[in-house]
Amino acid sequence: MFSIETFIRPHLLSLKPYSSARDEFEGEASVYLDANENNLGSLAGGTDYNRYPDPYQKTIKEKLSKLKGVKPEQIFIGNGSDEAIDLLVRLVCEPGRDEVLLLPPTYGMYEVSANIHNIGIQRVPLDEHFQPVFEKITAEQTEQTKILFLCSPNNPTGNILEPATVEKLITSFNGLVVVDEAYIDFTQSPSWSTRLEEFPNLVVLQTLSKAWGMAGLRLGMAFGSPEIIGYLNKIKPPYNINAVTQELVSAALDKTAQLHDMLAVIKNERDRLVEAFAAFPLIEKVFPSDANFVLVQVPNANALYGYLLERGVVVRNRSTQPGCANCLRITIGTPAENDHLLEALQTYAAQAT
Ligand code: PMP
Repeated sequence: MFSIETFIRPHLLSLKPYSSARDEFEGEASVYLDANENNLGSLAGGTDYNRYPDPYQKTIKEKLSKLKGVKPEQIFIGNGSDEAIDLLVRLVCEPGRDEVLLLPPTYGMYEVSANIHNIGIQRVPLDEHFQPVFEKITAEQTEQTKILFLCSPNNPTGNILEPATVEKLITSFNGLVVVDEAYIDFTQSPSWSTRLEEFPNLVVLQTLSKAWGMAGLRLGMAFGSPEIIGYLNKIKPPYNINAVTQELVSAALDKTAQLHDMLAVIKNERDRLVEAFAAFPLIEKVFPSDANFVLVQVPNANALYGYLLERGVVVRNRSTQPGCANCLRITIGTPAENDHLLEALQTYAAQAT
């Protein structure tokens, strides 16, 4: 039976977390003289910006709980899901000793967070269909492998990781399995967050930066057992989500109809671009996408990247990632932006022939 206590770094098990003024007094009072705030008001205007924000983001968690079908105590909120990635590494990996297991090509922050904390990195590349290879991954795991990072839909490839393989990995991996679902809203595939009760070693990451259009506000989520979430709360900075973000996000989470409208446009545009790219002579390969971007392989990624840039269009050159030689990752834009991209591709092709 998995027990998170076996994996938490021993000195964190007994950590006494910072106790803020808002932790120590949660009731209502008419005069607050407990947090060294400026009671005269805020130069930023607004009503309450002179006050520290809710350290546990209760309003947002209640709304997320209803939206996602996950209990509030199973939700950690981070300053972007990047913060959750970083805290997970800090929670279970001992610097200079432990390792994380990554499946490249994948999202870059897992590696950077591990490097920041002097954690070793084991790599088992995805196969030619960008799928995890179960036997190779399990063969790579050692006593020191504390986290397996899976990204589904995967960045930069765009595909869902085969659910049967993911399930086998979660079941067999002796450590935390983090499934990063930053792009989950763009796919029909169900979220692994619906299966938290089955897998006590599972942590699912999601974000409001993509489908919800709030990258600038910085809010990401980790879903996991109440025990894991409790430890993340213990080690997080006290007020990691600012008041403006809490306010704006709380209001935005009620706009699910608009979310679905935006998602419909983005998915439509994705289909249109995939079709246009597939018919395009200078694009050799269009990888199937369950995300809000499409990875394409071209004869000369640097040349096309430079040409598009001259036309005012910036895409992401992913050529240096394993298995992604001459690949560009193209985010789905507005219909007008996508038209502009397609026109630029046409003129590039005309010039190249
Ligand atoms: N995971 C993946 C797979 C991503 O692509 C990104 C953003 N590029 C993140 C996490 C980080 O998202 P956030 O803005 O919530 O920090």
